Amino acid sequence: VKILNIGSIAFDSIKTPFGQAKKTLGGSATYFSLAASFFAQPAIVAVVGEDFNNAHKKVFQNRKVDLSGLEHKKGESFFWSGKYNFDLNTRKTLKLKLNVFADFQPKLLPHHCQSQYVFLGNIHPKLQMQVLKQIKQPRLVGLDTVDFWIERNLGDLKQVLKLVDVFVINDSEARELSREYNLVKAAKKILGMMSATPSLSPSPLSASGRGKTLIIKQGEHGLLMFYKASSLLLSPSEGRVPECIRGGERLNKKFNESNLKIFNLPGYPLETVFDPTGAGDSFAGGFMGYLASADKLDEHHLKRACVYGSVVASFCVEDFGTKRLEKLTKQEIQNRFAEFKRLTHFEIE
Ligand code: AMP
Repeated sequence: VKILNIGSIAFDSIKTPFGQAKKTLGGSATYFSLAASFFAQPAIVAVVGEDFNNAHKKVFQNRKVDLSGLEHKKGESFFWSGKYNFDLNTRKTLKLKLNVFADFQPKLLPHHCQSQYVFLGNIHPKLQMQVLKQIKQPRLVGLDTVDFWIERNLGDLKQVLKLVDVFVINDSEARELSREYNLVKAAKKILGMMSATPSLSPSPLSASGRGKTLIIKQGEHGLLMFYKASSLLLSPSEGRVPECIRGGERLNKKFNESNLKIFNLPGYPLETVFDPTGAGDSFAGGFMGYLASADKLDEHHLKRACVYGSVVASFCVEDFGTKRLEKLTKQEIQNRFAEFKRLTHFEIE
């Protein structure tokens, strides 16, 4: 397995100024895996209830998502309902029911434990941690979360934050987590949280130690990526070296802001936006999927991954739920990728 993802598989009821959808297939793992599947094969670790039927399963199978880590339980699947404001950049959670996720204990199969690229999608930080602990030697670990977990499980979230390489978060969540309004200040604080000494006992699941990357998504306005000059600079042959083997050399390395770099990408200017649900997860799926397929983690590839993530997210919001991703093609992704270059490229003189 190239990319392993834990997250929610959910049924969503969504209201936007342009319409509504009831109990439609959604969830962070759903959007992530569909998006990532255009670049590399993703495997999901999640749980669903009796309301998840063969038609829902087919959505994943059509994109060759590995469902061997999907548990079926008695009861109902995770349920989320939300309402978007007119600008579509802000939303309110109306209802959230964990249902079968409430007592879920993720158990990875042997092939999952060998995954090189791991994305801990939006779900309880304790579950994210349980999955990460079972991975033998990840090359890159990404993480996403939302306000719900920041407000209820901050301690658990801070623990897992220290063990990941890339953190993907919304601007409003970045402000909430850092208690800073200015996003550059917020980013510095969050990178500090990600870099703090994990524990005194070196652990093989600690992050690569070569720098942390933070991506702040700004809805239709694009994103800001904060990284260190040497961020994640690993050559393809160079696997992640477990901390215990490297003698815990980075244990006391705190985040040093002197070589902080920023990459700013606009949002793709779309004329039709129906439903922003899943944009964040689709971004993460495209981002991680591209990195896994390129298997290079330098600055150049991180930037390209941001563009691929933004491209897939821009398609996701063109229709309700997963509809647009289900019929998306790789050619459409490549065309919009090229369009992004035309949109943002200019000569200095
Ligand atoms: P996004 O719009 O990318 O943030 O993702 C929206 C998806 O996340 C929806 O399909 C929801 O089912 C799911 N979701 C919303 N809140 C949560 C939560 N607290 N934990 C896990 N999944 C969630």
